[in-house]
Amino acid sequence: MCGIVGVSHHKQAAQMAFLGLYALQHRGEEAAGIVSYDGKDTHVLKKAGLAVDEFEEADISRLKGHVAIAHTRYSTTGSSHSKNIQPILVTHRKKPIAVAHNGNLTNTEELYTRLENDGSIFQTSMDSEIFVHLLAKTPNGNLSQWLVNVLEQVKGSYSIVLLVEDTLIGARDPHGFRPLCLGKLGDGYILASESCAFDLMKAEFIREIAPGEVVVIKGNKIESAFMPSAKSTKRASCIFENIYFARPDSQIFDDNVYQVRKRLGVQLAKEFPVNKADFVMGIPDSGNYAALGYAQQLNLPFEIGMIRNHYIGRTFIQPSQFLREFRVRVKLNPIRELIKGKVVVVVEDSIVRGTTSKNRIDEIREAGAKEIHMRISCPPIISPCFYGIDFPSTKELIAHNKTVQEIADFIKVDSLGYLSLEGMTSVMKDNGFCTACFTGHYPVAVPTNTDKLKLE
Ligand code: AMP
Repeated sequence: MCGIVGVSHHKQAAQMAFLGLYALQHRGEEAAGIVSYDGKDTHVLKKAGLAVDEFEEADISRLKGHVAIAHTRYSTTGSSHSKNIQPILVTHRKKPIAVAHNGNLTNTEELYTRLENDGSIFQTSMDSEIFVHLLAKTPNGNLSQWLVNVLEQVKGSYSIVLLVEDTLIGARDPHGFRPLCLGKLGDGYILASESCAFDLMKAEFIREIAPGEVVVIKGNKIESAFMPSAKSTKRASCIFENIYFARPDSQIFDDNVYQVRKRLGVQLAKEFPVNKADFVMGIPDSGNYAALGYAQQLNLPFEIGMIRNHYIGRTFIQPSQFLREFRVRVKLNPIRELIKGKVVVVVEDSIVRGTTSKNRIDEIREAGAKEIHMRISCPPIISPCFYGIDFPSTKELIAHNKTVQEIADFIKVDSLGYLSLEGMTSVMKDNGFCTACFTGHYPVAVPTNTDKLKLE
């Protein structure tokens, strides 16, 4: 997970980067950081918690410079310790280098061994630190070639932004797992995980960085280089970004997320219709878009059957199980007067552990629903993600251990229908997606001796 931002050639680069974090806050709520460079010095702000709450105006205005990068963190590797807040900032041959990373590397063990045998001392427990060690140990000349040479040594998923003195660099792994978009703001350029960040800055969306592309931005000049391996690598963008993770107002993977989610709902209605329902509702907010598509396809009323408490973040985002369960209870309240005595179709984007879904269905049942038919706008999640989505070990993934009927019994619904794999991919504009969490077929080799990639 995680969100990244880069700003070049703007007199308030750090302020713009902060707006970017604001828009990308959903990608990680644990910690955030900004690094700027003013031509002489770097300026750093890092805090645990939400950037939108923790960063003060005065802190941000101290971050001088025309170039900045920023990061918002959700940990998939490395602990929540403060040393693990990005961007990572180092000095190499008197030049400041800062890196912010979204994704998960898969050949970390091999790289750690090699780098440590070569004398590297790691300061954090994040796989992202590997980038700066490789930068220090790879001969450098031309900046883009240097980056290409470094990135060819790394496997797995990464979208990264770097600051090398006053140069901003952005790169995406050859599979294009995680999104990274390029925008224009005045004379300068912006990089951000999702295009919704540009809207807040009033920047113009230009395009996505291509898989395997490295863009080097100095002032208002931009240059691209490509990793040689990109040519022979099949695209594998994370389909779960479209299903759940990205914001619906973002443009990623050549599509608009809101429209993709509605199309998933339409397809779900074709595969698992409930024609005699009183209404269709989504589990807010993530289930609403597919619910709308589902209802429109079957000409059924769409209702907002649960009201969200806006002062609570996403339930899964706190890593501990206790907090997750507490948040499940406080987040949504069903409208009893609407639900009582009704046959209801409840649409959810996905089921991971099943805990949230079970709680939600219990609440809808307690509100007096006569029948509950649950529909899921993706297939059963059966395998962990090694590329940056925090899907737990197979032990915790409910669909790894139970059949659809067993899940229906556990959640206590009258019927349960998951969108098929073919149905899901058929509504995507491009078929180069990673679907490993639904199939167990991983596009990049994953560590064999571990159920879930963990560095600690
Ligand atoms: P549950 O029924 O407990 O599996 O929760 C399902 C809800 O949590 C759905 O809206 C999921 O999309 C959402 N979710 C998304 N990502 C994760 C994750 N990494 N871990 C747990 N739940 C997630």
